[in-house]
Amino acid sequence: MSKILDLAREILAERELCDSCLGRQFGRRSHGLSNRDRGRAIRIMLAMEDDRPYEEPRYCQLCLGHLLKVDQWSSRALAQLEGLEFRSFVVGSHWPEFLEEQEAELQRRHGLEGAELLKHDLNREVGKRLEAALQARGAAVDLHNPEVALLLDLVWDRVELKIAPLFIYGRYKKLVRGIPQTHWPCRACRGRGCEKCDFTGKQYPESVEELISPPVLEAARGSSSAFHGSGREDIDARMLGEGRPFIIEVREPRLRSLDLQALTDQINERAASKVEVGDLRFVTRGAIERLKSGRAEKFYRARVEFDRPVSAEELEAALRDLVGPIAQRTPRRVAHRRADLVRSRRVWEARGELLSEREALIEVRCDGGLYVKELLSGDSGRTTPSLAALLGLSLEVRELDVLKVFAEP
Ligand SMILES: [Zn+2]
Ligand SMILES: [Zn+2]
Repeated sequence: MSKILDLAREILAERELCDSCLGRQFGRRSHGLSNRDRGRAIRIMLAMEDDRPYEEPRYCQLCLGHLLKVDQWSSRALAQLEGLEFRSFVVGSHWPEFLEEQEAELQRRHGLEGAELLKHDLNREVGKRLEAALQARGAAVDLHNPEVALLLDLVWDRVELKIAPLFIYGRYKKLVRGIPQTHWPCRACRGRGCEKCDFTGKQYPESVEELISPPVLEAARGSSSAFHGSGREDIDARMLGEGRPFIIEVREPRLRSLDLQALTDQINERAASKVEVGDLRFVTRGAIERLKSGRAEKFYRARVEFDRPVSAEELEAALRDLVGPIAQRTPRRVAHRRADLVRSRRVWEARGELLSEREALIEVRCDGGLYVKELLSGDSGRTTPSLAALLGLSLEVRELDVLKVFAEP
């Protein structure tokens, strides 16, 4: 004990330290005490030995007095959290670099080992106070996956707030043709706005994303949003059946406990039978990766027109041969925005029904990432085999619908 007091006396003769900084230097030697309590105990002992009153200095050369202002930092942090809904948070701090070096130097000189880092002390103490203040709101410290991160910036004297995004999974149906999945900038002006696009900057007046996202963004009071689809259908294809999985990412949401049923109703009312959503639920960021990487199988229906009459037997035989591996070179219509390479995909099921001798409905179940229009038309030999090549004719895809996307988050 007297060894600790001697060492403390030595250090305090060199510079002024607050109780927290003093106690932190002896962190390894007594457990279950905060640095501040430990430092206070040491200083009281010294005061008793010297027969003078205990007094903590108002200034500290190690922390520049910030550890004396734990309550102020806590109130400033609390003020930032006003009106914000969250269940978990973490506190970090940004300190002038020279402080850590200065403290390390002091410890080297006095042979002090294992003291806690300056910033950990402040982070933990502010975290404890916030936890107590926020208990009623059900928020607790979570070091690994916090919904809110507070940064006490001592260098710029401010509290920064980082709010984790909110992720909502759902499925959408697109009941009409002619709507892209996401916003397309006008081809003529590239989004700046021109006469062609009526100064909207858009190639299409609305998109699936623009029909779904605004009510979600509004309900969560976020700053912006991103739309992640599990693949996308062509603009002129409908998306039917159970719908296509998507995830909306809301950035900086101020509210997180949304009523997803009410939100579903609101979106569907607003999208007025063009787009319909369902199955909304909260997911974590990892679900986006699974949504995107999952080469979800798709089920399509197409109406095709042949350039010559075809018999039912002929069609059946060709569809039988279409099942199996397909080599598909990037279609000409997307070659300007996709790398030109040959992909290998698989058709799992193909069936069809003649509507007339030159017209048929074709249904195909295949790997995600297979361009179905080209699987049918052949794209001038870039996709092999194709329905057109197997029948020895050329055909046009008049309508295409996605009936099912087999994907789960
Ligand atoms: Zn201090
Ligand atoms: Zn334009």
